[in-house]
Amino acid sequence: MKFTVIGGGPSGLYFALLAKKRLPHVEIEVLEQNPRSATYGFGIVLADSGLNRFQEADPQSYEQLVAASFVSRHRVVKHRGQSVFVDGSGYGGAIARLRMLNILQDRCEQIGVRVAYDCRIESPGTVEADLIVGADGVNSAVRRDCAAFGTTSWTLTNRLAWYGTEQHFPYPVLAFKTTDDGNFWSAAYAYTERLSTFVAECDADTWTRSGFDKMSDTERQAFTEALFAEELGGKKLINNKSAWHSLPVIRNKNWSVGNKVLIGDALHSAHPTIGSGTRIAMEDSIALVDALAAEPDIARALALFRQVREPQKQKMVVAAEKSFMWYEHVAGKLRDLEPIPFVFDFMTRTGRINESRLNHEYPRFMKAHASEWRQFMSTHATAGGQANVRA
Ligand SMILES: Cc1cc2nc3c(=O)[nH]c(=O)nc-3n(C[C@H](O)[C@H](O)[C@H](O)COP(=O)(O)OP(=O)(O)OC[C@H]3O[C@@H](n4cnc5c(N)ncnc54)[C@H](O)[C@@H]3O)c2cc1C
Repeated sequence: MKFTVIGGGPSGLYFALLAKKRLPHVEIEVLEQNPRSATYGFGIVLADSGLNRFQEADPQSYEQLVAASFVSRHRVVKHRGQSVFVDGSGYGGAIARLRMLNILQDRCEQIGVRVAYDCRIESPGTVEADLIVGADGVNSAVRRDCAAFGTTSWTLTNRLAWYGTEQHFPYPVLAFKTTDDGNFWSAAYAYTERLSTFVAECDADTWTRSGFDKMSDTERQAFTEALFAEELGGKKLINNKSAWHSLPVIRNKNWSVGNKVLIGDALHSAHPTIGSGTRIAMEDSIALVDALAAEPDIARALALFRQVREPQKQKMVVAAEKSFMWYEHVAGKLRDLEPIPFVFDFMTRTGRINESRLNHEYPRFMKAHASEWRQFMSTHATAGGQANVRA
């Protein structure tokens, strides 16, 4: 029996690794378009609250991922020139995306998975295998090649670019800036002692009002460096194909068609603002391998995969949607909310964080702002867990 995985990102490599461990008789190959030493992006957050599943699934890679992560427990949110320090235990670790891939590539190769690099698949329909796993991300060729997945997609209106920087952020910093040109914000966090991720973003109105729509990416980078000079400590941004773009939202009616199945971003795109896209993608891999190990018939295994995984995944999909909608409407919140209520609104935006979890994860912050919290709750809208603001 042969499984072919298209896409050697986190979900594809993790699937291949776990499948080879559980089903050693199966031949498994991963076909990845990039060279071994290249990927997009910089560091990614791997919030530690969900990592216990990785520990159970493959302790060796789990230990290495944890050891290679830079951990931070607190965060800072800046709004109207005020820095709000949110101390607590609720954040987690960040790791270089390439380092993470290298750890998973090494583990795959150690246990007998064949990983082919520089191998872009244009026509997945020509690939022959008993199971084809589409782990090829938001622009999945496996999905595009097969209308029967019933894909729907739309594009968010905010624009962002994913940069790196040598500026060190001891805590993640989310900085909002409202200027005459509109609303810009950045999310920055360290992923090694020396390097940090720096995601810069603006809303649709700002994109045109500021003239960003007419600038080249080089000019946008220079503008971003100047605007966030304080946060960057005067350091430059590092570019890794860091084009400004809008993120797509991908959903599929069917998770599998015949012997093809989608996982990770190919199946449901996540959103960077929940910092969990990679973990969610890798949990798809765990669930798919569990189903294949429990059910030797591929068609029945694929049905079991969806049956077990969908209820868990749906919670994260809904959380991601609430989070990106919060950002899509952030202009009204920036206009109407003072810094502390703004931070509360931000922290409760997915509807998954309630008062007791805030008290547990950020006890000092909640104690220091108890009266603002009561005030925030008294103006709380009934729907969506957000404060009342004009959209
Ligand atoms: C700006 C930004 C910041 C983010 N920050 C975080 C974060 O902090 N934490 C987090 O958990 N997630 C974050 N994410 C989301 C995260 O990157 C994705 O959710 C995650 O990478 C999904 O993993 P995947 O394996 O499904 O897809 P991908 O990581 O996209 O991997 C797909 C792989 O398939 C390969 N491929 C594509 N097409 C083909 C083809 N035709 N043939 C062969 N190979 C192909 C690609 O080269 C790639 O290696 C962020 C995303 C963005 C855009």
